[in-house]
Amino acid sequence: MTGEEMHALVERLYPLCRSITGDGVRATLDVVGDHLELEVHEVPTGTPVLDWTVPKEWNIRDAYVKDPSGERVVDFRRSNLHVVGYSVPVSATMTLEELRPHLHTLPEQPDLVPYRTSYYAETWGFCLSQNTLDGMVEGPYEVVIDSTLADGHLTYAEHVVPGRTDDEVLISCHVCHPSLANDNLAGIAVATALAGRLDRPRHTYRFLFAPGTIGAITWLARNRERTGRIKHGLTLACAGDRGALTYKRSRRGDTPIDRAMALVLRDRPHTIVDFSPYGYDERQFCSPGFNLPVGSLTRTPYAGYPEYHTSGDNPDFVTSAALADTLETLWQATRVLEGDRTLLNLSPYGEPQLGRRGLYGSLGGRSDTKQAQMAMLWVLNLSDGEHSLLDIAQRAELPFTAVEEAARALQDAGLVKELA
Ligand code: ZN
Repeated sequence: MTGEEMHALVERLYPLCRSITGDGVRATLDVVGDHLELEVHEVPTGTPVLDWTVPKEWNIRDAYVKDPSGERVVDFRRSNLHVVGYSVPVSATMTLEELRPHLHTLPEQPDLVPYRTSYYAETWGFCLSQNTLDGMVEGPYEVVIDSTLADGHLTYAEHVVPGRTDDEVLISCHVCHPSLANDNLAGIAVATALAGRLDRPRHTYRFLFAPGTIGAITWLARNRERTGRIKHGLTLACAGDRGALTYKRSRRGDTPIDRAMALVLRDRPHTIVDFSPYGYDERQFCSPGFNLPVGSLTRTPYAGYPEYHTSGDNPDFVTSAALADTLETLWQATRVLEGDRTLLNLSPYGEPQLGRRGLYGSLGGRSDTKQAQMAMLWVLNLSDGEHSLLDIAQRAELPFTAVEEAARALQDAGLVKELA
């Protein structure tokens, strides 16, 4: 998928009213299912999952605040952000003063509509711009939220790209935000594109499309015994804004994914931050009982931009170029994970004579000859059984691809062998 195709997917998903449960998640997975074969899981309300319980399922058909002239001054059909997520049904006539405790605005950003939810306390509310609120008369208003909060299911999906080994790479993104483009849809689009690009990898790649927090907790509860297979992982979110990439390390901080990300980010503008128990579902994957090697890749991170959790996070806030850049970076990281291995120099006493084996000649005339020679010398020198190709690329400050190519040439020449 190109950046434009990923952006088109964001636009297609944007109008759907997602939440942590309900038909908006199912519709979203249906759309992703046009690109990838998904295994969709439905987990009943009331199911215990770790320390939590799968909540009631929420669905909404319509909601509005209608003024005395009959105009919908707040209208769910215009934007699903107008309703507080998980609002219980309401049908009432109220004055502005009675309604006011249920209205949420952003006084500092008076044009924007905030995103609010109330998953675990049964209440209801509307979100609107401060400008709209300032224009509202005393009423009375007809207030309707046509929703249901009832026993049902929590829905999540997996797509697995089988590898040559059972060692897994977990790529997880949340699918629980309504019309917010960068914060959830961009991650979904990049994950979908990456899944489509992998071809017979060494690792098995598991893509998880699940509602934030409760979805990850549900998945962990149902897959507790097999989390040991996860050798590397990333949560992917805020993947399409114009900011530079940010990588947040796993709780362990020095796992191969942490080092692979640092390596591929080295040559582009970026920020790397240490783990903290906040943000996206790395919080769950890196809880101490699991402590999985899962980092988090975003562009501008969680809550780091003024449009975050507002109507300003719309498809215009996400660019095709940024989506393509996130995908390319992630792709390069998978190249590191796929190609990383530890070699042993079979001719460690003095440098082996490379020219005699055609290893200099084969490089003649190439503009990157110097880099290729350096890569060969570094691979030979550090392949003492203690250093992997990732270690070597890091230490030599060479691109992983150069080190990997050198390793392959040396392997072909019988000068190094791969250690199991
Ligand atoms: Zn969010």
